[in-house]
Amino acid sequence: MLCSLTGLVAEAQQSMNQFIDDLMSRMTLDEKIGQLNQLPGDDVNTGNPLQTNIGQELLKGHVGSVLNVQGVKKIRELQRIAVEQTRLGIPLLVGLDVIHGYETLFPIPLGMASTWDIDGIKESAHIAAKEAGANGIAWTFSPMVDIANDARWGRQAESAGEDPFLGSCIARAMVTGYQGKLNSPDEIMACVKHFALYGAAESGRDYNTVDMSRVRMYNQYFAPYQAAVDAGVMSVMTSFNVIDGIPASANRWLLTDVLRKQWAFGGFVVTDYGTIGEMQTQGHSIADVKTASALSLRAGVDMDMCSRGFLNTLHQAFSEGTVSIQQIEQACRRVLEAKYKLGLFADPYKYCDVKRSEALTYCREHREKARQLTAKSFVLLRNKDHVLPLSTRKTIALIGPLAGNTEDIAGTWSFSAKPSQYRSLFTALKEKVGSRGHVLYTQGCNVMDDAYLQRVVSEGHGLVPVPRVDEKQARDEALRIAADADVIICAMGETAWMSGEGTSRTDIRIPAPQRRLLKELTSLSKPVVLLNFAGRATELSWESEHVDAIMNVWYGSECADALCDVLFGEVSPSGRLTVSMPKHIAQCPLYYNQLNTGRPVADTDPYRVFSSNYIETTNGPLYPFGFGLTYTSFTYSQVKLSSDTMRKDGKVTASVEVKNTGSYDADEVVQLYIRDLEASISRPVMELKGFHRIHIPAGETRKVEFVISPELLMYDRPKFLPDGSYSLDTMEKVIEAGDFHIMIGANSKQVSTATLHVN
Ligand code: BGC
Repeated sequence: MLCSLTGLVAEAQQSMNQFIDDLMSRMTLDEKIGQLNQLPGDDVNTGNPLQTNIGQELLKGHVGSVLNVQGVKKIRELQRIAVEQTRLGIPLLVGLDVIHGYETLFPIPLGMASTWDIDGIKESAHIAAKEAGANGIAWTFSPMVDIANDARWGRQAESAGEDPFLGSCIARAMVTGYQGKLNSPDEIMACVKHFALYGAAESGRDYNTVDMSRVRMYNQYFAPYQAAVDAGVMSVMTSFNVIDGIPASANRWLLTDVLRKQWAFGGFVVTDYGTIGEMQTQGHSIADVKTASALSLRAGVDMDMCSRGFLNTLHQAFSEGTVSIQQIEQACRRVLEAKYKLGLFADPYKYCDVKRSEALTYCREHREKARQLTAKSFVLLRNKDHVLPLSTRKTIALIGPLAGNTEDIAGTWSFSAKPSQYRSLFTALKEKVGSRGHVLYTQGCNVMDDAYLQRVVSEGHGLVPVPRVDEKQARDEALRIAADADVIICAMGETAWMSGEGTSRTDIRIPAPQRRLLKELTSLSKPVVLLNFAGRATELSWESEHVDAIMNVWYGSECADALCDVLFGEVSPSGRLTVSMPKHIAQCPLYYNQLNTGRPVADTDPYRVFSSNYIETTNGPLYPFGFGLTYTSFTYSQVKLSSDTMRKDGKVTASVEVKNTGSYDADEVVQLYIRDLEASISRPVMELKGFHRIHIPAGETRKVEFVISPELLMYDRPKFLPDGSYSLDTMEKVIEAGDFHIMIGANSKQVSTATLHVN
């Protein structure tokens, strides 16, 4: 069986190779270079494809791929031009940022990660692929797997958070969810991004410098990219930042030595938007476009996204001898291979079936799944005196800029969103409460004090901004409806594009006018529930002391209905943070898996001189990584190990008993952390190494087990030489004898610990 399968694979490979050999033998040098060129197709969305710039370039064989074109009919027409009107009829590869769904939008990736539901995440990617694949899209620029532990960075929203282990599980799930076996239009090509280290931009400012040791790269940042590669991701996108001073798109060590040689990546590499052009004097200032293009190709880039550097300069670079024909052909072959594997040569219109588009896009089944997963993503941070869940037999005052809004409900990076078909929280709540209670609604305040900013963060991304209101009048109206209510729900926080690309913040609190109103509302002696719409770890120090209930909400097209499911107790909240929420912005970047330092101070200890702490703020987070409440309570037994010692190649089982001691059936996310206490380099105070999301009915107990295998105890170390020196050029995976702490608990700050000796 195996033999015949291997035979089939070899045969398929051979026929692909023959097909591409034949095609390439008929291609001119310019046609080959054309395949390496990706252009933005924004103008196709409004114009007649043939008359657009892309249409014209396409006719000349200058375009291998386009991005940002939307609508199955437009894409079909572009594909028709490629296939019927170009000399060789090579199909186009059409890409789009399908980041957390197409029209059915799941929570933003940070929210999806908060579900800790790996099967659910995989299914969300599959649904996204189905909808996108029915709308002409063959390639999504997702998953973004950059480790993001700086809440100032707006793209934390697009990440899985701060943890490489969880990030790797999610990377695998997303890649397999999108790509499947690539044998139907329900499956599209994934692109892992941004390779590499983009999330480590200094001071959380987008596109900023990254400077990092190899030890940190390998132990904290690389794992999710590698997991995506191991899962068979067919494309990789470079990042905007420099690594060792060299822009990622021109970094040969990164793109060839690590990606291709160490990780055996076999797909193709695309740059991020315009990164080749950004190497010029006005940018990184290392090369003009021609030199940057040659550098990038030689470093291992196969496709140039939107710089036109490859298109305009590679031919000349070839004539001048700075790139070889082999380098151009290798890149061209990789792009053609992707098209072949996607089945585009067999059926260029595979992803352009209007009927499928009508049947699948935003269909009932997808929305239902999105609603369930959205409900699983909310993170309940505080619930004083069990304010939640609410009863529908009450008068509810619903207040805040995000309460009546459908423009922002889908969240950042939702280019294919159709706000007009989504429901606002006000609409959903009214329907839910029906005639049993009342829902009073008012916007209550502005999003931000600065009118220009409020407008630009929305309009800049094609969204209608939340209307401006007169602060005094709006406040009076809010206080008036609050006076008539039994409970106040505030839907506040960040609008959709206050997180995402290019949205770094120096203040990660809820914006000022919303905070001012919240303060007034909390002084009314009525229960207040804050729904914190967030695209990052926001700072909620004041709120955590004064607001009765706080729940983090991560957007999504079905967000309003999912909120109703949770607010009224049909579903118990079960999301857990995948980022540490700081007490103060100055703690950023804040992450749980830090090194201990030589002068550590415990999280809650007061200030000590000459120690690693701050004068004004204790070290710990406000809400830790892994944290989230439910409507019930769980107790954990002590960790038990099947043996206190383990051989380096052995296995030990760690277990705990978890009891649901409350009166709600609920899900718990049981988390395993490990600390290496005796390593030859400093190791983090704890690292997530496993988790189980389990359902425990009220009053019942479940035993949860984790197998501690050698892989969980390994880390990447520079190669040590006999004389005590070390070489960073060779990193090696090691497991070192000594003691390890095995910690299991409900979050990174609430664990019980056992010691395992490894020999
Ligand atoms: C972003 C990428 C995205 C690309 C295409 C860039 O600005 O960094 O994540 O995939 O644009 O839209």
